[in-house]
Amino acid sequence: MDPEVLTEPRSLPSVSELLEELGEERAPHDLLVASVRRALSEARARLAEGGVVHRAELVESARRELAAALAPWPRRAINATGVVLHTNLGRAPLSEDAVRAMREATSYCDLELDLESGERGQRDSHVSELLARLVGAEAATVVNNNAGALVLALSALARGREVIVSRGQAVEIGGRFRIPEVLEQSGAVLRDVGTTNRTYASDYEAACNERTALLLRVHHSNFHLEGFVADVGVEELVEVARPHGLRVLNDLGSGCLVDTASLGLPHEPTVQESVAAGADLTVFSGDKLLGGPQAGLIVGREDAVRALRRHPLARALRCDKVTLAGLHATLLHYLEGEATEKIPALRMLARRPEELEAEARSWLERLHLPGASVERASSAVGGGALPQARIPTWCLVLDPSRLGWSADELARRLRTGKVPIVSRVEGDRVWLDPRTIQPEEEADLLAGLRTAIQQ
Ligand SMILES: *Cc1c(COP(=O)(O)O)cnc(C)c1O
Repeated sequence: MDPEVLTEPRSLPSVSELLEELGEERAPHDLLVASVRRALSEARARLAEGGVVHRAELVESARRELAAALAPWPRRAINATGVVLHTNLGRAPLSEDAVRAMREATSYCDLELDLESGERGQRDSHVSELLARLVGAEAATVVNNNAGALVLALSALARGREVIVSRGQAVEIGGRFRIPEVLEQSGAVLRDVGTTNRTYASDYEAACNERTALLLRVHHSNFHLEGFVADVGVEELVEVARPHGLRVLNDLGSGCLVDTASLGLPHEPTVQESVAAGADLTVFSGDKLLGGPQAGLIVGREDAVRALRRHPLARALRCDKVTLAGLHATLLHYLEGEATEKIPALRMLARRPEELEAEARSWLERLHLPGASVERASSAVGGGALPQARIPTWCLVLDPSRLGWSADELARRLRTGKVPIVSRVEGDRVWLDPRTIQPEEEADLLAGLRTAIQQ
């Protein structure tokens, strides 16, 4: 038998033998040992499945483990899924100006210093003033994410009191973020009214009592109710709340500042509409349709925002300087009226099908791949916004059966290339949507496709 081919666990080399063979690797000793152990345990698993292990591969495998442990993270990836706000891929890609501002903030900066007077400033005042101006609110503040914004608002305004929510809105948003549980955590008492499909103003009215703190409205986010449904808008909720001296809190989820109809999409309720309708507080995410870094944005009445700022949780949930810098630059795009050109997520949503078809066809021509085609498909917004919206697009479609691979295998090869390419697998084929691919990524995309297919 070839001594290089191992078939028994006992013929595997020891950890110290492999360590010696690894030689002079510049890495901490315990990391080297861990890499060798992993390589050996993988080899043992292969033998247990009845496979064989090549002696020479063991060192290579340990080296790969070591390289993976030392590699910088996260890695830039090409999003070819056509889902613009892909949570697993980090949601909104940031604008160039946002990236520049974030880089600037990594040094010392005037985060909490008024340069004119030399006195202490407030860390989120620049962002908050800009945000309040943009949406026509009296005041604003910012925390780490929208889940945090909701917890803070409920803790500050409704602890030990009742919060009225429609049964159709006591939902789970994703990642086990459930409205009833968030309420409980905040010390508020859920008072659900109406039914899953229909809730009327009179349901809220009937539930108002001396223990009530506020009326909560929650955007449906990642699901869509259709048919025999009735829902109470913000304006109507405000009409119910006012005579009782109650507040209205509106969790908009995605929180859009532009009319999505101008991008050829269904209308997504905007933050400005919520403010104008009289919501005392509106909360939304920074990294969904707004197109900025992860943050929870809070806008509304002065007294309500002040109560949140003063709550001890505000400190626990505050944003770091890099986030605030990115958010400020993103919001400036709106102020300058250039949001749909400068913010990548909005720019991607605005792209026309003709343009996407031409792009997919140009890839097809340059790649000369057997069995590839360009076909109609739909992109999606993602991030819980407009879940029912199917946005017409054209994809480059690869049929891996000619290469003798499954679609999952080709998708894996694309993901594990030099620059990871994340595609969509459907109907045994691999779909690549140009909508979510930025112009500067094209060269890496084409090179990655060529390599994956030649392997
Ligand atoms: C996404 C979402 C949240 C959570 O926002 P994060 O910024 O991810 O914390 C809360 N509420 C609604 C309605 C959402 O869509």
